[in-house]
Amino acid sequence: MDFNYSAEDEAFRKEFRTWLEANRQFAPRPRDVLAEEGGTGWDEQVRWAKKLSEGKWLAPHWPKEYGGRGAGIMQNIIYGEELARLGLAAPQTGMGISLFGPTLMHWGNEEQKKRYIPKILAAEEIWCQGYSEPGSGSDLASLQTRAVEDGDYFVVNGQKVWTSGAQHADMIFLLVRTDPVAPKHKGISYLLVDMHSPGVTARPLVQMTGARSFSEVFFEDVRVPKKNLVGEKNQGWQVAMTTLMFERSGGGGDRGAMGEVEELVELAKKLPRNGKTAWDDSGVRQKISEFACEAHALRYTGYRQLTRLLKGLPPGPEGSMMKLCGTELALRMAVFAMELLGPYSQMEYNAPLAIDRGKWSFRMLGARGPTIFAGTNQIQHNIIGERVLGLPKG
Ligand SMILES: Cc1cc2nc3c(=O)[nH]c(=O)nc-3n(C[C@H](O)[C@H](O)[C@H](O)COP(=O)(O)OP(=O)(O)OC[C@H]3O[C@@H](n4cnc5c(N)ncnc54)[C@H](O)[C@@H]3O)c2cc1C
Repeated sequence: MDFNYSAEDEAFRKEFRTWLEANRQFAPRPRDVLAEEGGTGWDEQVRWAKKLSEGKWLAPHWPKEYGGRGAGIMQNIIYGEELARLGLAAPQTGMGISLFGPTLMHWGNEEQKKRYIPKILAAEEIWCQGYSEPGSGSDLASLQTRAVEDGDYFVVNGQKVWTSGAQHADMIFLLVRTDPVAPKHKGISYLLVDMHSPGVTARPLVQMTGARSFSEVFFEDVRVPKKNLVGEKNQGWQVAMTTLMFERSGGGGDRGAMGEVEELVELAKKLPRNGKTAWDDSGVRQKISEFACEAHALRYTGYRQLTRLLKGLPPGPEGSMMKLCGTELALRMAVFAMELLGPYSQMEYNAPLAIDRGKWSFRMLGARGPTIFAGTNQIQHNIIGERVLGLPKG
């Protein structure tokens, strides 16, 4: 592949860099810190999203006709590079920009696009994703939340769970069963529900890190106008799959694995061991080198994926490989940090004697989430087994 940037790409970089330099004071503290503090920086995230929106930098990859800049693959990479250069990140303000907006561009009617897209782009309406239920996760099509027609409305009853950001959201894109007797994939519809409607209750769940980034959401006789149906009734599975495609294709990259390797090096250099530091122990250096090799392998797998996209080919199995390997590498690195810390690993986040404010134990607990969402790692194993290795279906 050609790793050089075109003149147009460089102009894009220059414009974004200039804007970022002038507006970086509006960015929240680094995302890691916010996540580790249990998402308490929500207002900061929204402020940053609104600022980016003012500069037309919130969704540069969106098509120009929908208010984006029509930025291509390389320009998206530049966007990430320029943010990372200043230690910044794109705002984490729900699923509107990444998942729902692009899905609506594809499946929504003109009235729906006009109603919802501008508010997503202005960071005025926050969206969450209502897919998983207590009995339906990997086998999503078995979902039971019901919507029954009543005049110009659907009446929704049921429960969703693990809904990220539901406690902050104004709207939810919701999978509901509209035909209980049809084969399971064929009786599902895709509804847009106002989270402030009577009968909607979001109860935050406390994760093992202590953070509350997702909720269980209950629907009791919630009346939803029929105009909020996206796509055809009972054809919601296809719409839902479009959203999942955006979710999975957005998970690429080496997930900052090299950055975490460097943090481990720093940790090892400051931890005393046998009169020297942990870094002086060749076993420790060897282990960290192994992580570094894996992080590089991930980066090059990412480049392979990029090459396919630049050639106009559909995403390949690299996405599943990167999701699986990237999330497990992050988890193993966090567990190794626990070993390095020894008794200090027991210190809670922000405890007075904790090393690095206790971020390593927080990270170790938090690193399990990504091995579960966007298709669990066991499901990724299945995909790789069947589609890459050609093994028979289990
Ligand atoms: C941090 C986080 C954020 C999330 N945010 C959202 C959100 O915003 N909206 C939303 O709708 N959902 C969200 N989820 C839920 C997520 O999509 C589900 O947890 C996931 O799909 C798994 O479903 P489950 O939890 O019901 O587990 P199950 O599907 O019940 O799986 C249980 C175990 O069985 C394994 N398993 C299941 N089927 C197979 C199989 N066929 N082969 C091999 N092993 C299998 C799984 O890998 C897992 O280990 C989030 C989850 C997390 C952790």
